[in-house]
Amino acid sequence: MVMTTGTPNLTDRGAAILCESAQAVKAAVDLPIQGQCEPPDEDLWFQRMKACGIDSLGMHLEAVTPEVRARIMPGKAGLTMARYMDAFDAAVAVFGRGQVSTYILAGLGDTAEAILEVSQHLIAKGVYPFVVPFVPITGTPLENHPAPTPAFMAQILPTLGAMLKQARLLSQDIKAGCAKCGACSALASYEV
Ligand code: SF4
Repeated sequence: MVMTTGTPNLTDRGAAILCESAQAVKAAVDLPIQGQCEPPDEDLWFQRMKACGIDSLGMHLEAVTPEVRARIMPGKAGLTMARYMDAFDAAVAVFGRGQVSTYILAGLGDTAEAILEVSQHLIAKGVYPFVVPFVPITGTPLENHPAPTPAFMAQILPTLGAMLKQARLLSQDIKAGCAKCGACSALASYEV
């Protein structure tokens, strides 16, 4: 099960409602759960989420270059990349290597090189970078923003898949979550 939240506040940033929700689900059914939130203000939330039944965690960078982050997600960009990296370390210490992941949307302005460079850094931390092509959705502010070309994705996914394979950080080993589902990216097909 994938359980996501927006940013309901600027303190726990969704961790508290995920705890409450995971506890209720686990009381009814023993289903692997991935929680998804922004890095909370206290790393203690990672232990709380794990104790409440969250098996794996997603904290989504979305974009990796400062200019793109500020343009695409001015609110979320308030949390620095450095804070994300610290939070990834703290979360991996709780959930384990390969049980923490991050969504990165290709096609919003980051270069393929920037995405691969950050991905390499994440893989070294034990974090799975789930790189997904951006898809414009009608009725949203980015409805006219183009999706990346297949050629652009081909600059990223085969190389990233090989990096993941070499690090033995595989989507199939994640207990639950987007990388395990894999429906939004062809990345898993390059891990084999
Ligand atoms: S990969 Fe896509 S379809 Fe699968 S759980 Fe995540 S958002 Fe949903």
